[in-house]
This record gives sequence, C-alpha cells and structure tokens, in this order.
Amino acid sequence: MAGLAALLMLCYIVAMQLVAAAGLADPVPVHWWTLACCAGIAAVLLLIRSGYSRRFADPALTLFQTVYAIACTAVAYVIAGPARGIAPPILAVIMMFGIFGLTPRQMVGVALFGLLAFGAAGAAVQWGQPSWLVPGSQPPALAVAYLLMTTVVLISSTFLTVRVHNTRTRLHHQKRELAEALAQIRELATRDELTGLPNRRYMLEMLRLEQLRVQRNPQPLLLALLDLDHFKTINDTHGHAAGDVALQAFARMVRACVRSSDILARWGGEEFLLLMSNTQAADGMRLMERVRATVAATPVVLPDGTALHLTVSTGLAQLAPHEGSEALLHRADTALYQAKHQGRNRVLCAA
Ligand code: GH3
Ligand code: MG
Ligand code: MG
Repeated sequence: MAGLAALLMLCYIVAMQLVAAAGLADPVPVHWWTLACCAGIAAVLLLIRSGYSRRFADPALTLFQTVYAIACTAVAYVIAGPARGIAPPILAVIMMFGIFGLTPRQMVGVALFGLLAFGAAGAAVQWGQPSWLVPGSQPPALAVAYLLMTTVVLISSTFLTVRVHNTRTRLHHQKRELAEALAQIRELATRDELTGLPNRRYMLEMLRLEQLRVQRNPQPLLLALLDLDHFKTINDTHGHAAGDVALQAFARMVRACVRSSDILARWGGEEFLLLMSNTQAADGMRLMERVRATVAATPVVLPDGTALHLTVSTGLAQLAPHEGSEALLHRADTALYQAKHQGRNRVLCAA
C-alpha cells in the first residue's frame, strides 16, 4: 500500500512539475514542495522496509501518510496557481487509502485536519498572496466551489470509513460464530453424546491412521472389543435410563484403567472399542484383565440406591503384518464371540 501510495505521489509530483514548467506556477516553491514530498515518501518507505515501523501501533503508518499527504496537497493548492483544480481529486485518492486503514475516530480527525488545511489554503490564495506566489487572483466563486468539493470528499470518506468499519466488525463477528459452529459440528460428528467418548466414525478414522502409521513404522497395534454381558436384562429389569447410567459408569471405569494415549470409543449400543498403539499382546491381555476385574468388582449405584453388577466380555486382537483394519476387527469380534460362548466375564485373545 505504501509502495502504491509512493507511486501515486510521484505522478502527483510529475503533474506539479509540468505545471511549473508550463509557467502556470512559480517553479521555486514547486521545487521545495517536490523535495518535501520526496522526503516524506523516502521516510515512510525506509521506516516500513527496515521493519522499524513495527514498533509503532500503526506499522503501516497510514495515519501519518494520510496527514502528510493532505498537508502536501493543501500546500499544492496554494502554489499550483490556476492548476489548483488538481487538488480535490488527489485529496479523494488520499482519503481512499485512509478508508481501509483508519478507524472511524482517526478518520474524523483526518477530515477535520483536511478541512482546516484546505480552509487555510483557500484563505491564503484569496487574501494572503505572499510575494512568491504566482500572481493572478481567483474568482471567489471558484474558491468556494473548490472548498465545497473538498468538504464533500472529506465528509463522504468519513462516512464510508464508518460503513467499512461496521462491515468489517460484522464480518469478524460472523467469522467467529462460524468457527464456533464448525467446532461444535465437529464435536457432534465425532463424539458419543451419552458417554462423551469418541464415536464409531472417529474410531474408524483413527483405525485407518494407526494402520498407516504401523505400515510405515512397524509397532504392535492392539484392538479390544468390549461388550457388556446380558445388558438387555439390565434394561428390561431396571429401565432404559438405568441402562444409560450403567453405560456412562462403564465408560468412566474403562477410561480410568487405560493409558491416556489409548483410544476408547463407543462402537455402538453396549459395545466399546479400545485401540492400543505400541502395546504387546501380553500387556494388552493384562490390561484388559484388569478392566474386567474392575468392572466386575465395582457395582454401579443408581440414583435410587440400586446397585447394578456389570460384567464385560472382551475380544483382543493384534494387527498382523499386511492385515487390514476390517480383518483385525473381525478377529477381535470372533474372540469376543468365543468369550461370550465360554461363559462371559472374560478376556480372549485372537490367535
Ligand atoms: P450379551 O451378553 O450376549 O452381550 O447380551 P446382551 O443383552 O448384552 O446383548 P444384546 O445385543 O442382546 O443386547 C444389547 C442391549 O443393549 C440391547 C439394547 O437395548 C441395549 N442398548 C444398546 N444401546 C443402548 C443405550 O444407548 N442405552 C441403553 N440403556 N441400552 C442400550
Ligand atoms: Mg452385550
Ligand atoms: Mg452387543
């Protein structure tokens, strides 16, 4: 933006030099004016390119650039002689830069400064004519017209700045709301509402990723399928709500037994899936045995004081080389089926 502003300023200088060369304006003040403009451009570019401006609240130096450019334009209005009509459009361009970089408050200040600067410039042209100015009076109607145009530019840019600022604030707000909604949707899509555990969808994705990881970097990967025993009876005897409480308590118990790096998900109904990365089968067996014993030894107490005694059957399987996650799941499921068949409340490891 500063580079573009500098380029426009250079065009402005060329135009003023042209006016002076054509004899419409006194070349001496135009040269001094050119020097001041160049110094401003150089200072701004140097401060920005060197990174020094980063320590200021406004690192783009928009406020300084706007004020400086307005001051230069007001001076140009005085010294440009009959060509001073170029000043209001240049002022409009300067204000356009401000619209996107200034706050409404700063813009009001800039507009007031512009009114003051151009009021003074207009007065200097009409009444103050110092000796170094190009002679030739300007009809008062033209002075009033210029001042009117200048005021229109300043006020409309202030108004536009407020609009842009409001739109930006609204967009910012909407962006935050969208991000929050997205996070909520992601949470809903990957979490089981009843137990707070990751859901089947999440687990499937984790299985896929873990399998890829093991292919690249061979490590033992264990999968355990846990199924509560005779859960239908709990529902039938104590009601569905009691069943829900039991499922929540069970999820908490298992979660407390396993490592934080293990992924426990609700696979569906009263079935849970535990993914243990970098775990040997013997360690996995010990862990699942501990889970089994804990669940069997910890009754779930319902709000009415009733104690529910849960047991869990578990099928364990270790990922074989070149095995897919579906085949692994199938083996864990077969082991679980055998555990159920052998009388439940036990852990079986697939061959
Ligand atoms: P098994 O020992 O062979 O696993 O017998 P089971 O009764 O546990 O197995 P079954 O598959 O016959 O029944 C599972 C029951 O789990 C039936 C279903 O109503 C209950 N269930 C599934 N999801 C929920 C749930 O979210 N809340 C409650 N309260 N019950 C559920
Ligand atoms: Mg069951
Ligand atoms: Mg089941």
